Amino acid sequence: MPSSPPRHTKIIITLGPASESEVMLEKLILAGVDVIRLNMAHASHEWIRTSIRRIREVSKRLAREVAVMMDIKGPEIRTGDVPQPIPLEVGDLFDFTVEPRPPGAEPGAVRSVHVNYPGIVKDVAPGTLVLVDNGLIRLEVIACDDAAVHCRVLIPGTLTSRRHINLPGVTISLPALTDKDRGDTAVGCEEGIDFVALSFVRSAADIEELRTLIAGHKSIARIIAKIEDQTAISNLDEIVRAADALMVARGDLGIECAVEELPAIQRRAVQACLSQGRPVIIATHMLESMITQAVPTRAEVTDVANAVYEQADCIMLSGETTTGKYPLECVQMLDKIARRIELEEPSLREPAVFTAERMKVLHSAVVLANELPRSKLVTFTRHGFMAQGLSALRPVHSPILAITPSPDTFRHLRLLRGVEPVLMPFGADPADTIESAIGLLRRLGLIAPGDKLILASDIVAQDQRVDSVQLRTVK
Ligand code: PEP
Repeated sequence: MPSSPPRHTKIIITLGPASESEVMLEKLILAGVDVIRLNMAHASHEWIRTSIRRIREVSKRLAREVAVMMDIKGPEIRTGDVPQPIPLEVGDLFDFTVEPRPPGAEPGAVRSVHVNYPGIVKDVAPGTLVLVDNGLIRLEVIACDDAAVHCRVLIPGTLTSRRHINLPGVTISLPALTDKDRGDTAVGCEEGIDFVALSFVRSAADIEELRTLIAGHKSIARIIAKIEDQTAISNLDEIVRAADALMVARGDLGIECAVEELPAIQRRAVQACLSQGRPVIIATHMLESMITQAVPTRAEVTDVANAVYEQADCIMLSGETTTGKYPLECVQMLDKIARRIELEEPSLREPAVFTAERMKVLHSAVVLANELPRSKLVTFTRHGFMAQGLSALRPVHSPILAITPSPDTFRHLRLLRGVEPVLMPFGADPADTIESAIGLLRRLGLIAPGDKLILASDIVAQDQRVDSVQLRTVK
């Protein structure tokens, strides 16, 4: 019997030294983590394999299967190696070069670092901002030629090796997937990842390229588009349509756009996902201060609450669980805030409007659930689409108990707001399958006598698909 009713908002953590031990993984999964993210920025293939196998093993032992997301880097501009850290002061001149400059340049020459993207000299112009190391160091382009971008330092800092570069407002022409992304994805697919998150998605075509790659590896992984720059925001609707889910990646977004735009962008992205029936993840800095402190700031609590009020599907932790001191406390904190705010009236209420007839049946199930206290939606879903449709309609209080015979679908369902997946084989007779499911849900403590069950199914009877909504009271 579960200790508490299912939480509607799902929790994603990022794996790292603070969370990857078996002991900690066990605690985190028991505390209610739904999806574990592997960030490919610094990961080796060996680490990917070991981590995925460990997650699967621990999940199995706990009988609580979580999903695995691989987050690939996408078209990222990075500086090369520097022999020693370079201190940059306001007003200093500094060059980003296409090729590494030979060491031992004459005294007084402008200092430089090379970048992994030769096209940078074509994409920027005098006045373009160059932000280095998560925006900590800021430079302005004063000129460019075929060999280098010449800059002046606006905000000082010390430049170390392989730092990330952001060019706000510039559409870069790097391919959507690098060789490293292709290699990482191949290993992930081999190990059976459930989701691939693609960084710096710029258009629907980027998603299609990844989809072809994944299909080539015979993987069923679903694609999460990470929205991180102004190009993605301009193409938001086509990206939401092409992807299986969206991540509002506020770390890079907050560098690529003015920070005061972030709340409005988040709201627009959540709304776009709600209206197209796609799950949406709110990521980064949710409990940042808990990397070093045992309690969050009041502002962080309100930020998490805001994502729940907006009815996002998932809230995500990054540094908090990779290197933070309090990974478990962070998950417990997200759990507490989400459960509390789910009792309140949501702030966004414009869920998907489906035009397909079959989806209208789901709509009628949700209308009925919203009318009945103590109601629970029950659906039978092989590929997860029935459950996703119900979730997109954002039932006000009813959980969606999604019965599936597929372990892959079971894990995909971990991403969806309000959905509690249950693994059970389907029988040949739909009526028997429903009876078995009700028995199993009772044994799992997910339903109790007196509950109103609204069953939404598309059972096949006498070779015909019958879309139906049934109302039953648990005896
Ligand atoms: C982000 O930028 O918010 C994000 C989630 O991506 P990454 O951690 O890869 O920078």
